[in-house]
Amino acid sequence: MLNLVLFGPPGAGKGTQSEKLIAKYQLIHVSTGDLFRGHIKNQTTLGQKVSQLIADGELVPDSITIAMLEEEVDKNPDATGFIFDGFPRTVTQAEELDKFLVGKGSLITGVIALDVDQDELTRRIAERYKVRGRPDDDAEKLKKRIEEYFSKTIHVLPYYEEQGKLSKVDGIGEIETIFENLIAVIDQY
Ligand code: AMP
Repeated sequence: MLNLVLFGPPGAGKGTQSEKLIAKYQLIHVSTGDLFRGHIKNQTTLGQKVSQLIADGELVPDSITIAMLEEEVDKNPDATGFIFDGFPRTVTQAEELDKFLVGKGSLITGVIALDVDQDELTRRIAERYKVRGRPDDDAEKLKKRIEEYFSKTIHVLPYYEEQGKLSKVDGIGEIETIFENLIAVIDQY
């Protein structure tokens, strides 16, 4: 199994690069943000529970997020690997993901952090807001999401670094160049 975590703050390019990577490596894309947005759109009970938190740019509680992620993985018993995009966002999520995968005789192969400075993130999200109008991309909500990233999510990096699983890739530049740099890391696994 090739199980990757694509890591980075909002606007780092995780979604864009995940799409390219799943095509190349035949992986299942698990984006917790996309899953939540699907629940909200379909007005499921889960969607109703999380919609305000997401609209406010706050993290959804770990218990809810982890249960949803595990369910998604379990829906794909024949997968040859997964890309986790936007998950884990807390150390608890990272620990639970490890336990869950170990229970299946698997593990995280590697974690790649896309490195993008804050000015570029703000510029990209402002652009995305104009094009897609995602409510949590407006300037105020984005500020909260970036705060959540630097207060909670960033601590996931040392968790994987201690396991020798962390690589960093420059997330600024041409999409194709960044993709090639990701491939160079993955092909070393
Ligand atoms: P994203 O599309 O990954 O930026 O996620 C959009 C929003 O969904 C986030 O701002 C959070 O409110 C929620 N979310 C997505 N993934 C997670 C996660 N792993 N843990 C907690 N909340 C999450």
